[in-house]
Amino acid sequence: MISKRYNIKNWTRQNLREWFKKNEKNHSSLKSFRADQVFNWLYQKRAESFDQMLNIGQGTREMLEDHFYISSLKVADNLKSRDGSIKFRILLDDGNSIESVFLPHKNHNTICVSSQAGCAMGCDFCMTAKMGLIRNLDPSEIINQIFTVVKELPEEKKIRNIVFMGMGEPFHNYNNLMQALEILTDEHGFNYSHRRITVSTSGLLPKIRRFGLEKIKANLAVSLNGVTDEVRTKLMPVNKAYNLEKLIKVCSEFPLESRKRITFEYILIRDLTDSLQDAKSLIRLLHGLKFKINLIPYNSTPGGKYNAPSPEQSRMFQKYLLDHQIIAPLRISKGQDIQGACGQLVVGNIQ
Ligand code: SF4
Repeated sequence: MISKRYNIKNWTRQNLREWFKKNEKNHSSLKSFRADQVFNWLYQKRAESFDQMLNIGQGTREMLEDHFYISSLKVADNLKSRDGSIKFRILLDDGNSIESVFLPHKNHNTICVSSQAGCAMGCDFCMTAKMGLIRNLDPSEIINQIFTVVKELPEEKKIRNIVFMGMGEPFHNYNNLMQALEILTDEHGFNYSHRRITVSTSGLLPKIRRFGLEKIKANLAVSLNGVTDEVRTKLMPVNKAYNLEKLIKVCSEFPLESRKRITFEYILIRDLTDSLQDAKSLIRLLHGLKFKINLIPYNSTPGGKYNAPSPEQSRMFQKYLLDHQIIAPLRISKGQDIQGACGQLVVGNIQ
């Protein structure tokens, strides 16, 4: 009698191969290559039950059924923006919910996924921070977000880029994140290119170092947002533990594949981070690194204490960087009218 069934989407293909191998002695039909087939069914054919896995013998399917279940998530509701972005509120099994945002671009589509319900980092400009940390997402919840969103989209809207910029600090949930990345990039799994996946951190330095040593070379983005320790600490408490000097040092040592750069996200906040003096200091701060800067004009939020920069100031800031040969796209914040833009994801009651 099997007392507990495992959520199979929390298992990497390697985990599953080992399970098949271990059980092979008792059941000759269980061969480790079956793990590849199961993965194929789960992630490429999107099977929702073991019965659908027709090239796997019935005995094996029954064994799988006895030991595992296939999890899925449901959309609680969604909000569509005028610009085509859609914010999905996705219900977790324990009643909590998270948000994922579909972001259409001219030539490709991006999904912004959450790694935690809530967040513990306390960034002062961020609505998610006001929820506090509720809990980490497990690997299946991270990847099921993508399934759930894709299922809701019309056929032609394929996702090209995955960005971990939704709720949570991905590096606070490091092991589950890495397991999800393994499934996402597995050739028998989702088969996404690691080049199309970006993980954004507020600057947890030990984890940035560790991430640089991983075999999955996803892109690294760092939320910078301030050019002095005073301003950055005000906006991001993480700066007290890992100040700018330490952050830049770790970034300068981060191993990058050829033609890759670290993305620094920089929020433009009126009269706090948007002056030309800040632009100048930004160039000085990042000198010597391989980087680009995403400029994100702050989105005013209800009850927020900061103000959006004027469009002219944002453009002047960008021009200053471009004039100094810095790659610095000015992100026109998508989904602003649905609170789906950067720093605006929040679910539940905010105290
Ligand atoms: S900006 Fe990111 S790291 Fe900071 S509180 Fe919000 S979700 Fe957490």
